Amino acid sequence: PATSLQDIIGHAKEYGFVFPSSEIYDGLQAVYDYGQNGVELKNNLKTLWWKAMTQLNDNVVGIDAAIFMHPLTWKASGHVDSFNDPMIDNRDSKKRYRADQLLEGKAEEYTANGQPEKGQELLHEMGRLLDAGDLNGVRELIISEGIKDPISGTDNWTEVRQFNLMFSTQVGSVAEDASLIYLRPETAQGIFVNFLNVQKTGRMKVPFGIAQIGKAFRNEIVARQFTFRMREFEQMEMQFFVRPGTEMEWYERWRDTRMRFHQAVGLPTEKLKFHIHEKLAHYANAAVDIEYQFPFGFREIEGIHSRTDFDLKSHQELSRKKQQYFDNDVDPATGKPYGNYIPYVVETSVGADRLFLAVFCNAYTEEVVGEGEDQKTRTYLKLHPALAPIKAAVFPLVRKDGLPDKAEQIVKSLRSEFRVVYEERDAIGKRYTRQDLIGTPFCIAVDYQTLEDDTVTIRHRDTTQQERVHINELKARIGHDVSM
Ligand code: ATP
Repeated sequence: PATSLQDIIGHAKEYGFVFPSSEIYDGLQAVYDYGQNGVELKNNLKTLWWKAMTQLNDNVVGIDAAIFMHPLTWKASGHVDSFNDPMIDNRDSKKRYRADQLLEGKAEEYTANGQPEKGQELLHEMGRLLDAGDLNGVRELIISEGIKDPISGTDNWTEVRQFNLMFSTQVGSVAEDASLIYLRPETAQGIFVNFLNVQKTGRMKVPFGIAQIGKAFRNEIVARQFTFRMREFEQMEMQFFVRPGTEMEWYERWRDTRMRFHQAVGLPTEKLKFHIHEKLAHYANAAVDIEYQFPFGFREIEGIHSRTDFDLKSHQELSRKKQQYFDNDVDPATGKPYGNYIPYVVETSVGADRLFLAVFCNAYTEEVVGEGEDQKTRTYLKLHPALAPIKAAVFPLVRKDGLPDKAEQIVKSLRSEFRVVYEERDAIGKRYTRQDLIGTPFCIAVDYQTLEDDTVTIRHRDTTQQERVHINELKARIGHDVSM
């Protein structure tokens, strides 16, 4: 049977990857904590992304900007005025929905029932109404399409209201002095406001990029699907500053580079696809999503956007600080330097938690093994060794005759390079299973022969095959597989 999201959520919790936030108080909706294994896997993903950006490119550097920013930032970026979702409530169930998602669901239903044109038409009409700000029209469309609340079964809908997704709080200890401040809904703006700081102090020449990993906050109306849609999450964003007119070339380059990254972390090509945006956000002149096939369908994991000079230009207007760059390269058309301009920006933006979920879903494997009476399901995480929380587990076959000491020595010799654990509890089969469930690629067993000739068995997670190797070879063997 196909893996369900419930299988994934259950496994993530049971084996220390992801816990509901404040679980002893029954949790907090759409907020999650990463456990002892989850944090390792997520850190590995973040490190790979950071390296892919800042180490494998000459001209990309990183920053770490604060979560709080001057409130005008969000005026300039457009978030105060238009970072909204249309919401609607059902009066009988008292449940709240995103009006656009209700209509999208209906459109998907048409498509599934062999009427894709009807689905397209509906989406088109919804886009038209939302663009025109006709919220009453959106409500009427929901009713005329016969959309009912799945819980109450009625169409007793309230009016549609726009709901701003930004969280706000107050800074300042005295009420009179306090001023409203937002928790950033994206990390990108921290990069835009530091564009000139980095350009000048780093003597960066266009084209160049600034990368950042950090928390972002959105008061999502409907937050389901585990770490796919959270209210507090992490983004990995990179803004690439280019000369106007060259943005499409860079947009295509980054689109392809980013697709290769997702393949490199182990997501299979057939479960990845591009989804080109036809309807563009106010700041973009081209946009594409990379989608992954989750158990609940193809959904966005990363967006690549050509954002023009929208952000820098608005920051220049609101801050009254020039956001220009002087380009002294010679324009072959005029024979003169390109001179001053506000750069265009190509952005790549991926959610660390969504990528985590994609990688986790993809790794989760159930295999039927054995014959007849002995048949059982073997569950393991087929993670790329570079991502695995633990790279190797070392087991003494028995807890006596110097085998534990020998195993501990091996752990000591490996631990400065890899995350390695020592395990002596339970039968060896059980120890293998425990490591399979968290995705450890290698289990190293120390037995009586080890004491004689310094060889151990390595058992490989995916094949369960075992081979005998010399202790001196372990570092190279593990090192080979865990590098990317
Ligand atoms: P969606 O349409 O799914 O809400 P979005 O188009 O608003 O996503 P962007 O604003 O482009 O998303 O954000 C870039 C990336 O940040 C997304 O591709 C996603 O990986 C991640 N992201 C956005 N919102 C969330 C969230 N609520 N929880 C987890 N990750 C998120």
